[in-house]
Amino acid sequence: PRNAPSLDAFWMPFTANRQFKAAPRLLVSAEGMHYRADDGRTVLDGTAGLWCVNAGHGRQGIAAAVERQLGTLDFAPTFQMGHPIAFEFAERLAAIAPGPDGGKLDRVFFTGSGSESVDTALKIALAYQRAIGQGTRTRLIGRERGYHGVGFGGISVGGILANRRVFPQLPGTDHLRHTHDPARNAFTKGQPAHGMELADDLERLVALHGAETIAACIVEPVAGSTGVLIPPTGYLERLREICTRHGILLIFDEVITGFGRLGAPFATDFFGVTPDLVTTAKGLTNGTIPMGAVFASRAVHDALMQGPDGIELFHGYTYSGHPVACAAGLATLDIYGQEGLLTRAADLSEDWAAAFHDLRGRKGVTDIRTLGLIAGIELASRPDAPGKRAYDVFVDCFARGLLIRVTGDIIALSPPLIVTRDQIGEMAETLGAAIDRAA
Ligand code: PMP
Repeated sequence: PRNAPSLDAFWMPFTANRQFKAAPRLLVSAEGMHYRADDGRTVLDGTAGLWCVNAGHGRQGIAAAVERQLGTLDFAPTFQMGHPIAFEFAERLAAIAPGPDGGKLDRVFFTGSGSESVDTALKIALAYQRAIGQGTRTRLIGRERGYHGVGFGGISVGGILANRRVFPQLPGTDHLRHTHDPARNAFTKGQPAHGMELADDLERLVALHGAETIAACIVEPVAGSTGVLIPPTGYLERLREICTRHGILLIFDEVITGFGRLGAPFATDFFGVTPDLVTTAKGLTNGTIPMGAVFASRAVHDALMQGPDGIELFHGYTYSGHPVACAAGLATLDIYGQEGLLTRAADLSEDWAAAFHDLRGRKGVTDIRTLGLIAGIELASRPDAPGKRAYDVFVDCFARGLLIRVTGDIIALSPPLIVTRDQIGEMAETLGAAIDRAA
């Protein structure tokens, strides 16, 4: 083990780091499905890093492509000029873009992260409405318990209440309810069945505010960071139908569900519901070089390229289409294609569901939700210490060689898509034992 560096200078504000400073855990290298910790222990990656390392760690193809690109063209702007690799990556992405053949969202805007993708998509939606003469539509609708990153746009449509209390928000945002009845989500192997009724909450907001004020509605098809919330059957279809009827753009935030998490390339394909815009990041480059991408329908793209009211919009980032990130992304797509990873979760999802639903009945487990290769295990909240039980499970799992993620009282798992059946069993066993031990 090498000497641990001082932890004083690096500052991640607020709660994202507070618990860590009390009991530091350092990861120093990674290969395939495993991390190595600073004390030499091997840790099975149950979270694909932070929902992003879909092809597993240490992929030599990505490393070689990045090195080659650094030696060829390390940086070039994409404002008023371009470089071939950005066009090549966009073209490759367009071919697998979310949506059905003939109706794919195959116009790609590059960003540097999920948060930037979300802010970009919200801006595109507002600009589009203006471009088609619907300039009164300035309101954005998100969902309670949604997570859309930490830009001001993402916070405004997101469901993290602490953030909404502290920071100013975009005017006129409102939020769909995430459930009418939590009990109906209990122990869901797949999808519960009250989707229409829940999605009709959008009709409530339309009646409240007037359709002519609403530009877009953004949801995660399956909410990840706030606890793996799986939409009931018919929910996304119904949202699509309501949005279309009222001229509201529908945005799917696929930063987590994109690139194979559910067993199809995108949740859009998995559910067979096509939004107008899709935000991505994370798995786009296998979590290696930071990058995001927004996929837009041709209708949205074409209207915007004509310019809203003749006003020249400015939007784009220094790192939009960064050549090194594009190289990493292209190598990532090669791996996804060669190893069939964008659909592999479909083959494993039954074993995955069985392994985690076996934990039903363990001490304090109140709900288990699985879909594709994602799982949420909800623990009863201790009134004296909310989140403590799940945090203890997290620490216990890490000590025994399994990395999981906890938010509040919910444990989330989302391994790299190269996970084996044996490793799925190992995860469920380690987790079950840790749940048993947690007070
Ligand atoms: N949207 C969703 C659905 C996410 O899960 C995340 C990150 N967990 C983001 C947006 C923000 O992405 P980033 O942290 O790359 O800004």
